[in-house]
Amino acid sequence: MSLMPENLTLTTGAAERIMQRIQEAASISESTQYLSRRFASSEHQQINTLAAQWMKAAGMHTREDAIGNVIGRYEANDSQTNAPAIMLGSHLDTVINAGRYDGMLGVLCALAVVESLNEQEVRLPYALEVIGFADEEGVRYQSTYLGSRAITGHFSKDVLNRRDEDGILFVDALKQFGSNVDNLASAIRKPADIYAYLEVHIEQGPVLEAKGLPVGVVSSIAGANRMSVSLTGLAGHAGTVPMNLRQDALAAAAECISLVESVCSNHDGLVGTVGRIKAKPGASNVITGDVEFTIDLRAAQDEVRRDRVGQVVEGMAAICKRRSIEIGIEHVHEASSVSCDAHIMQCMQSALRSAGMDVLVLPSGAGHDAAAMAEITKMGMLFVRCAGGVSHHPDESVTKEDAIAGADILLKSVVNLCR
Ligand SMILES: [Zn+2]
Repeated sequence: MSLMPENLTLTTGAAERIMQRIQEAASISESTQYLSRRFASSEHQQINTLAAQWMKAAGMHTREDAIGNVIGRYEANDSQTNAPAIMLGSHLDTVINAGRYDGMLGVLCALAVVESLNEQEVRLPYALEVIGFADEEGVRYQSTYLGSRAITGHFSKDVLNRRDEDGILFVDALKQFGSNVDNLASAIRKPADIYAYLEVHIEQGPVLEAKGLPVGVVSSIAGANRMSVSLTGLAGHAGTVPMNLRQDALAAAAECISLVESVCSNHDGLVGTVGRIKAKPGASNVITGDVEFTIDLRAAQDEVRRDRVGQVVEGMAAICKRRSIEIGIEHVHEASSVSCDAHIMQCMQSALRSAGMDVLVLPSGAGHDAAAMAEITKMGMLFVRCAGGVSHHPDESVTKEDAIAGADILLKSVVNLCR
C-alpha cells in the first residue's frame, strides 16, 4: 500500500486524450454516413487493434480472447504476475447509426485510469485489467452480452447456428474474424482471478442532467421481461361488418397497449413498452384479423416486475375474452435484476464526496455487461451525464468535463477499493 499515494488524480495527458480518442474511435465505422461497428466485422478488428495500441502505450500487456474481447493488463505492485485483477471496461460494438459514447466512454475512462497510474509510476495491490467487450448490443446475431458471457462461462450456445442478415453463420463469422468456436471456453475467467468489475457508462437517460450532476452511482440493473403477443380475430370488410359483430384484433391490441402503459405508470423504476406491432392483412379497407406485438417490461425490483407482468397477462386475457379474440403470449426473455455491490457503491460514493460532488444513486433501466459480470464477481457502475438522455442516436453527447469527471471518479473508486 505504501506505493499508493493519497489523492491520486488523473494526469492532464490522460484526461485530455479521452475526448480525442472518442473522436478517433468514431471514425472506425462500416459506413461513412453513420457510426456502426458490429461483432466480428473488420471494424471490430480495427477497433481492437486501436484499443490495444492505446493499452500498450499505457503500460499494459494486451491480448484478444476467443470471442474477440480485447484485454490489457497492468500488473499489481508486488510484481507477481498472477494477482487478482480489478477489471474496468465496457463494450466496443455499437448499434446501427450509433452515438460515439455508448460503450466507448467506459473503455476510455478505464484506459485513462491505468494511463494516469502508469504516468505516476503507481501500482496497486491488485492488477488492473481494461477490457473492451466484443459484443454487448447484439446487433448482428440478436444476442445478449456475447463478450462478457464468454468470460463468465454463460455463453448461450443458441447463437452458434444463427445467421446474420447476409446469411453468414455465427461460426463462420467468428472464423473469418480469426477465432474459432471450439476455443470459446478459453475465454472463461476464474472468479478467483477477478476481484471486481467496474464500468463507466453514459446514463442513456435524463436523470443526472435534471439534477445537475456529472456522475452518479448505479444501484442495480433492472430486471426485464420480453413477451411476444399474438391476437387472432376475424378479418372482414370494413364497410359491411357491423361494429357489434366484429372481432377486430387491432382494436383489441390498442386496448392491450393502453393497459401496458397504465399498469407500468406511477411506480419508480418500472417501465413498460410496446415497441413493435404488425397488423394483417394490413389494408385500409379491411378489419384486422391478426396482430403481433411485443411487450418489454422492466423494473428495479423483481417482485414489482413479476406482479405487473401478471397484471398485464390477466388484463389482456380479459380484454380478448370480451372481444372474442384468441390470444397467445410467448415469454421470450426474462432476466432478474442485478444489484451492484454495496462495498463498491460505498467506494464510489466516497470518491464523489472527495471530489466535492453531490452523491446521487440511481438504478439502470438498460442492461449492461456489468449485469453479466455479476455472475462471477462483485460489480459496480458509474453513470455519466449525457445531453437530453439521448442515446443509440448520433446526437448522443457528453461534455469533455463530464467524461473526465467519470474517469477521475473511477480512478478514486478503484483506489478506495484497494484500501
Ligand atoms: Zn452500452
